Amino acid sequence: MLINAELLLQYQRCKRRPFLDTHGDYSHRDVTHELLMKVQQDKLTHQQSVLDNFAYHQPNYSPGNWEAGAAATIELMQQGVDVIRRGVLLATYDKYTLLSRPDLLVKQPGTSNLGDWFYVPVDIQLGKRPKQEYQVVAAFHAEILGVLQEVTLAEAWLILRNRDSTYVVDLNKWTPQMLNILAEYIQMIESKVPPEVFIARQKCNLCHWYNHCYAIAKSQQHLSLLPGITPIRYTQLQALSTNTLEALANTSLSTLENLIGFDTEVASKLIVQAQSVLTKKPLVLPYTLPLENLIFTAPIELYFDIEAQPDLNLNYLLGVLVVDRQANTEQFYSFLAETPDQEELIWQQFLDLVWQYPQAPIYHFCAYEVDTVKKLGRLYRTPYSSISPLLTRFIDIYEQLTQSVALPIESYALKAIARWLGFEWRDREASGAKCIYWYDQWLETGDRTLLELIQRYNEDDCRATHQVKDWLVDFFQTEYARKMA
Ligand code: SF4
Repeated sequence: MLINAELLLQYQRCKRRPFLDTHGDYSHRDVTHELLMKVQQDKLTHQQSVLDNFAYHQPNYSPGNWEAGAAATIELMQQGVDVIRRGVLLATYDKYTLLSRPDLLVKQPGTSNLGDWFYVPVDIQLGKRPKQEYQVVAAFHAEILGVLQEVTLAEAWLILRNRDSTYVVDLNKWTPQMLNILAEYIQMIESKVPPEVFIARQKCNLCHWYNHCYAIAKSQQHLSLLPGITPIRYTQLQALSTNTLEALANTSLSTLENLIGFDTEVASKLIVQAQSVLTKKPLVLPYTLPLENLIFTAPIELYFDIEAQPDLNLNYLLGVLVVDRQANTEQFYSFLAETPDQEELIWQQFLDLVWQYPQAPIYHFCAYEVDTVKKLGRLYRTPYSSISPLLTRFIDIYEQLTQSVALPIESYALKAIARWLGFEWRDREASGAKCIYWYDQWLETGDRTLLELIQRYNEDDCRATHQVKDWLVDFFQTEYARKMA
């Protein structure tokens, strides 16, 4: 059986995924997500921009014929060419064949069985940081390469995004870790039982087994579906045999608050969260914000949401919904940079609008809007005396809600909360990540329907924030009246 670097990389992100990739029923896999295609395309573009700086040789072999690829690579190494692109390296490990295909092999002076030179593996990664999984994969390449050229390598290299220099992987540190992970991986793959499901938004979102795993987690009422359950906390709960929602909902605070990964606030929040999901009711958190800090209703309210393209370091859409409760009107303003150089223009348009309502609170969801207003103020030299009064008007609905109430939902993303309230986006499949993709497509194709999709999504985000805020005000008014009665 083959073990390649991709399986090892995926194993570090999720132990279950390479098991399913190797033994799973492929009819249960999701169709490839268009966002995953964008990530793959971005990776290829990044790799190409790095490769443009190298003159390289590539082994010649028919696709999938790894033996031939390995022989062609060894031949290039023996010739002593300076750089080899996507060489094929094979080694035997127990009853397994290890297959490594580093992005580059770069010739270095020194001694090996090839002559007075040897090769160092180089991976070109899309991430900006030298994540553990990249370094483990680099150690995997280096281990196989070391065996082939009979040299114990001290370092491998990573070329990351947005880094001018090459990152050096310390193999003394990472090779032992890689060998442990490889041994664990083999144990897992030889087992007949797949590793347990654990749904975590960041790792599962773009996984092609998502719907399959989610259905299993749902049918088991798996604790990973409860907001606030991290792998560390889950392990702690398992050690206490607290494996179900009921068990967690009935756990005492003193049982949890001193465990690793918990404190009093986290423990009490999780217990109430479990009770909320179990009873399907919103519940006030024990450490809720003081009443005077909670949101209120104002005669005129602004709801603000930004769409950004991080790769371009650009905030291309500033959307504001103006709700005038006295006049009973709602008006949406969409300040859109059709080209990246219009960011300053839309920033000014945004300021002109919000300054028209100097008393109106500005509601938003999460910290990005406040941070961006500060950043744009600095970038376009808006006097701080003008920005400062604006910042005091910002109210983060996410913070208000998550510090005061537990909802019977699986995530505190705006979509999950607003949908629980019955709100629906006009384009059901739209998302912030898709907007990034659509904006890129707009810049490439000039297709205006993409801009319309983004504007509609942004407006719906503002309207969803409005609905969540109104619900929160009503909820606390009712709770307060109940307590006073
Ligand atoms: S959906 Fe999540 S749990 Fe399932 S295989 Fe993918 S990453 Fe792992």
